[in-house]
Amino acid sequence: MKVGLIRCMQTEDMCPMTTDFKIMREKKYAFENVEEDIEVIGVNTCGGCPGKKAVTRAVEMVKRGADTIVLASCITKGNPIGFACPHAEQMKQAIFNKIGDTVRLIDYTIKEYSLIIKVEQEHIISLLNTALFRNMFNTLY
Ligand code: SF4
Repeated sequence: MKVGLIRCMQTEDMCPMTTDFKIMREKKYAFENVEEDIEVIGVNTCGGCPGKKAVTRAVEMVKRGADTIVLASCITKGNPIGFACPHAEQMKQAIFNKIGDTVRLIDYTIKEYSLIIKVEQEHIISLLNTALFRNMFNTLY
């Protein structure tokens, strides 16, 4: 698989795509059923809101050998801040209209919008449970 990766320009200051590259290497999430080697042939942003440049950038990566265009989860799932791109569907459709169905289009990399937030939430819930348990215990005894 030769991947052309497109990301949200709004999140580039806060995310160097470390996890995206890791899950590609480990073939997880969007890449879990890929048997062939995964090679990233290019990475680019959408070009900024409203993301029109994503279309020409996807086309350029196909010209340079990409057989798969991947929209990172910052665009479609809102990683890492829980705010998905409001233009994601339009962007996806416009890219598909240009590259056609001979090139795969994957619309996410990581499933959860923020693994860190999820872990933190679970941690807080477990702390709350502990506090509740203590309160109940103190009330009873
Ligand atoms: S168009 Fe969407 S993906 Fe691109 S910078 Fe704006 S919010 Fe991010």
